[in-house]
Order: sequence, then C-alpha cells, then structure tokens
Amino acid sequence: MNSIKEGIKVYQLYINGEFQDSTSSKFKAVTNPATGDVISQIPEATLTEVKLAIDSADKAQKAWSSLPAIERAKHLKDIANKIRENEEQLARTITEEQGKLISLARVEVNFTADYIDYMAEWARRYDGEVVQSDRPNEHIFVFKKPIGVVSGILPWNFPFFLIARKMAPALVTGNTVVIKPSTETPNNAFEFAKLVSETNLPKGVFNLISGSGSVVGHELSSNSKIGMVSFTGGVDTGTRIMKAAADNIIKVSLELGGKAPAIVMDDADLELAVTSIKQSRIINNGQVCNCAERVYVHEKVADKFINMLSEAMKNTKSGNPIEASTEIGPLINEASVQHIEKLLDDAKNGGATIITGGKREDSKTGLYFQPTVVTNVTQDMDIVQQEIFGPVLPVLTFKDLDEAILLANDSEFGLTSSIYTQNLDIAMKACKELQFGETYINRENFEAIQGFHAGWRKSGIGGADGKHGLEEYLQTHVVYLQYNQDKK
Ligand code: NAD
Repeated sequence: MNSIKEGIKVYQLYINGEFQDSTSSKFKAVTNPATGDVISQIPEATLTEVKLAIDSADKAQKAWSSLPAIERAKHLKDIANKIRENEEQLARTITEEQGKLISLARVEVNFTADYIDYMAEWARRYDGEVVQSDRPNEHIFVFKKPIGVVSGILPWNFPFFLIARKMAPALVTGNTVVIKPSTETPNNAFEFAKLVSETNLPKGVFNLISGSGSVVGHELSSNSKIGMVSFTGGVDTGTRIMKAAADNIIKVSLELGGKAPAIVMDDADLELAVTSIKQSRIINNGQVCNCAERVYVHEKVADKFINMLSEAMKNTKSGNPIEASTEIGPLINEASVQHIEKLLDDAKNGGATIITGGKREDSKTGLYFQPTVVTNVTQDMDIVQQEIFGPVLPVLTFKDLDEAILLANDSEFGLTSSIYTQNLDIAMKACKELQFGETYINRENFEAIQGFHAGWRKSGIGGADGKHGLEEYLQTHVVYLQYNQDKK
C-alpha cells in the first residue's frame, strides 16, 4: 500500500490490481505550486514495469470484453459512486498539487463522476449495423468491437477528469487501459487507483504507472500490444507520440493545444462579453486548452470594451487556491511563468502596451501571475500566435466581420473559438466560416459531456466526449453471411 515517510506520501505503481513498489531507485518529488512544499514522492517506473502493466492489460482484455456491456457499465458506476463519496479529499488533492481553486477542483471531481456515469449509460445504446447485400441470401453485419489495450497519457491541467475521459469510454466498449499521469500532478491519479482497488473491477483492466515521458510515455506510444494511444498535452509531445506510434501503426487520438479567438462585434452585449471572456481566461489560473487566448474587438467599441475588460481583470483576487475567496491561484511551474514573461517582453519590444498586469506577483513560490491585458499587438507576434497558458489576453481590433474571421482563422491551432453578437445573421456566418472544432456564441468556452471535443489543424486528431468520442474506442468487423435458403 502507499506509505508515508517523514510526513510525505510515497506512492506505488498500480499493476494488475495490486499496488507494488517500483524497482526503480528514481523518485520524483511533487510540489504544491502555491507554497513550494514537497507533498509526495512518485516512482519513475522502469521499462520492465511499463511492459508488465501493458501485459496485464493485454491478458485481462479478452475476459473483460466478453462481459456484457451492461456488466462493464456496473463496474464504471461503482467507480463513479466511490468518487462522489470521496469528493472533498479528492478535490483537496487536486488543488494541492495543481494550484486549481478548491471550488473548481470540486466541480472537476463531480464532473468526472458524471462523465463516468454518462459513458456507462452507452452500454445499452451503442450498436452495429446490418447492411443490404448485392447478393441473394446474404447478410452483411457491421460489428463494433473494442480495439484492445488503450494507453492514456495525461497532462496536468485537468488531471483527474482526463483519467475518466480516457478510461470510461475505453472500458465500457471492452478495452482495458494503462494510464500515465503527468509527473506534475500524479497524486490524484494514485488516489483514483486506490478507489478503483476498493471496487470489484477485474484485475488488469485498469493500470496506473508513473514516470517520465521519454521512458513510460514512449513505451505506451510504441509497444506492439497497444491498440490505441489516447493523448492530451502539447503539440510537440503529440508529434513525438505520433512518430513513436507509427512503427507499429498504433491508432492515435491527440487532444493538443489551442489559441482560441474571441470575436466581439459592435452590437455585442459588452457586459456579457467581458464577464465571459474574463471567466474563460482566468479559469484554472489561465491554463485551459479551449479558453479565450486572443480577443478581436470591433473598432467602434474597442475603447469601451478594453476599459471594461482591464477593470475586470485587475479586480481579480489572487491567493492560495485552497481559500474560498481566491479567484486566481498560481501557475504550474517556473518554466510556465518564464514562457509568459518572454512572450510579454517580446511583445513590448515590438511596441505592445500593457494596460493592466504584466508581471509575476511577489509570493513565496513566484508562480502567481497578474491578470494581464495587452494592446497594440500585431497578428504576427508570438503572443497572438503561440499558446500562452496563463491569465494574459492580447486584444486586437477589426473593421468588419470578414476581417475578424480572417484573423481568427489565421492560426496553426483550431480547437475552439467564440463570438459575441446579438445578430443572428452574423452568428450564422461565423458558424459557417470559423475553422475550429468548437464555436461558442455569447457564452464562455467550456465543453459538454455529450458534445464532441476535437481540434482542427495542429490542435489534434480524433476527439473526445459524446457519441463520437465513444466511437473512437471501437473498431469495425464486417461479417458477410451467405446462406442457402432452399436447404432443408
Ligand atoms: P506535455 O505535452 O508536456 O505532457 C503531457 C504528457 O505527455 C505528460 O504525461 C508527459 O510526461 C508526457 N510525455 C512527455 N514526453 C513524452 C513522450 N516523448 N512520449 C510520450 N509521452 C510523453 O503537456 P502538459 O504541459 O502536461 O499539458 C499542457 C498542454 O496540454 C497544453 O498544450 C494544453 O493545451 C494541452 N491540453 C489540451 C487539451 C485538449 O483537450 N485539447 C486539454 C488539456 C490540455
């Protein structure tokens, strides 16, 4: 079982239904980004241990897929119930290692339980097809079958929910899984495994293994027993995973970065636009793939909008995420803060103006960044083209909708977008011409369990959630059945 040494939790790998010590001598310290305190030690699994986890998933898969789907769904519902029973402790674990506000961590925990229930409910609903044949006395059946062993490689920003986003559709459709959490936020995943171990889920169906991207992540992307790798993270890592998967033609599902444009028309409800864009930019301390990262505002309302947005961003209470009154907490690590500082410095050198914010706050860890609004930026600047992952909003202006759409589409990312207008014709033109996987009209960016979260261009391949997300975890088997009608 996981242990405590000198007040610090030491986690064990979860392979084939058992917690086990890693044979590795390497451990990684996990820190609280709000305080800098070390809160746990996690093993960096060896190659042999990753292979063991994959083998155990592979061995368990046949029996698991032979269970009726509704039986698999019951196991998922047991896990969802365990999550709800442990809501507060799980939320605190997430906040402690990721810096997420405790209120949002509670939302994440409950959303995760709901997500697992939602996917379990597909058990009686997903189906195959019977297709017309060109021949007499023939039936063509299209069966939907599991892919086999699915690996899930996770980032740190919604670490708990993303376990479910990979695991739940995979398990209900008869696959088994090996999950690798981010080394920044592994504790919640080990707590998740503990809850799984308290249910009757058959051994080997769910495995959890921690460690580096170069050893654990690489093996989970390239081992010939893996049928599909489901990855969420950055574009560079996604590229590496796709290359590693190519050697064994492993299916990839990649949920990558974003640079979501928000378009504010001159007829927009500016109060609504400011509230929604601010909300979208500061949620999870500015670290969400689908949230507003650049704003295009109509020149007729630009001055008023920028004043309102800057006031709103300035009045954001920064503090320890565990305290209920805090509105924004720390960024995940020093590299993230330095990336934002570099983007802002380059923009300032190119003539940009910081309207509010622009600096890290004085704090024990130095990881708190002020909510920031930047103007006088140009479309070609890195701050407008690269993912920021912090509470920083560059604002540009436009003359008409055609120009706004052109600027919004001018990005290597294509995850989400939003537009604020009260004119139906404008909204529908934007729907037709915006080249993104999602568009939010007059609301903040946040996807639904039953939608489909899938990026265009470098934002990814494949997608998650809803019916289409479930089907990612299935492959087809077409059977041609010829029979002799006259035979007695
Ligand atoms: P990251 O790409 O640095 O790491 C993600 C995971 O990949 C980690 O577990 C890491 O250990 C692993 N990894 C690293 N190298 C690897 C390799 N060579 N092979 C296999 N695995 C490897 O991403 P991050 O910093 O943890 O997360 C932030 C990124 O995630 C942002 O770009 C964000 O936009 C993206 N994200 C996207 C979505 C989405 O739904 N599209 C959701 C959340 C986060």
